Amino acid sequence: MTAVTLRDEATELLRELLRLDTVNPPGNETQAAELLRAYLDEAGVACELYARVPERANLVARIPGRGDGPSLLLLSHTDTVLADPDEWSLDPWSGELLDEHVWGRGALDMKGQVAASAVAMATLAREGFRPAGDLVFAACADEEVGADFGLSWLCREHPEAVRTDYCINEGGGDRVVVEGRPLYLCAGAEKMSSPFLLRVRGRSGHASMPGIADNALVRAARLVERLGSLEPQPRLLPETEGFFRALGGVPDVSAVREGLAAVEPVVRALVEPMLAFTVSPTMIQASRQRNVVPGVCEVVCDCRLLPGQTQAEVERAVREWLGEDNYELEWIEGVGGTRSPLGTPLWDAVESFVHAEEPDAALVPIVLPGFTDSHWVREAFGTVVYGFFPMRAMDVELAARLVHSADERIPVDDLELGTRFLVHVARRLGE
Ligand SMILES: [Zn+2]
Repeated sequence: MTAVTLRDEATELLRELLRLDTVNPPGNETQAAELLRAYLDEAGVACELYARVPERANLVARIPGRGDGPSLLLLSHTDTVLADPDEWSLDPWSGELLDEHVWGRGALDMKGQVAASAVAMATLAREGFRPAGDLVFAACADEEVGADFGLSWLCREHPEAVRTDYCINEGGGDRVVVEGRPLYLCAGAEKMSSPFLLRVRGRSGHASMPGIADNALVRAARLVERLGSLEPQPRLLPETEGFFRALGGVPDVSAVREGLAAVEPVVRALVEPMLAFTVSPTMIQASRQRNVVPGVCEVVCDCRLLPGQTQAEVERAVREWLGEDNYELEWIEGVGGTRSPLGTPLWDAVESFVHAEEPDAALVPIVLPGFTDSHWVREAFGTVVYGFFPMRAMDVELAARLVHSADERIPVDDLELGTRFLVHVARRLGE
């Protein structure tokens, strides 16, 4: 292996991973787990496959620690969303290397980080690295659908395999430049996905005589329109304050929205979802027959809560905004919405990498508008988790556009940067 660089090794492993179709559903992630096991075995890293069903295995690899320091988990998932080859310029499962980019479904989300984590483990193992606490690598199934074959199942059925003090996962690492200063975004918290149903009641009747009925769809339309202009009270979280502090100062919470009008669009797009909960009506169902005025209309609203915010509190605000009308509000579920403290040894380890790479750059916390697998280990073990995989060569807006879309690809420069980052954090935390 002497002639092979970390960069080449990560590139080759990623290309092999991308050639495996792990579109979820159905997933078939065992192929990826087997490939990783063969690769890690050769480097002398102990691996175990854990599977609820044979074709959907999770891989957990471990470099045992000395037992006198914190343990670290490099977390990732091997499944991907689907890809429509007609929309792509190249075969989504070719693993093609073109213009110093590796192409394929999952290159960014997140087989790139899977490959980088595996190469970091192999590199450290070959060096004879003996960390203070265990260094663990988990490549999990079923993140994209979440039907309990992946990390949720591992945390419940094999907690000893994935319980650590600290964890690095996906969700952050983007580099943005604000007023000339580079910022690297670290996801220390995530919003809760908390959709609700509005059931609007009227009175059914023959559609040829609308006057004798009370059309629930028309009533619902008024509520939907009102929801479209809902602007909840902003709230500054520790993450938002940390973000603003890096920009030069924490604004007054009452003036924060007005202040945003003046900042760059990329920053505004980042900060807006961190300020308050959001509501987006997305699905509607009323009469099943054209000539029957609906007596009931159901509207499904996507809703994202700030970490720490409760459904009861948001329901009060929504009801107050909508006013009295003939409807019921029913919560469908609540997933995610967890956070980890900032200013931990893991934070310092990530920050030291950023400073070494770019001395004038700052590491800033963000709240992810969506959620990842991070909440499972936060909830199960109180693990401190940050979403961070540095991206410098690829523009943040391009990366955001390519995830779950056509022509997904990762620059080899970023794959190498990410691999070096994971090696750095493991060494720093494991000294
Ligand atoms: Zn992902």
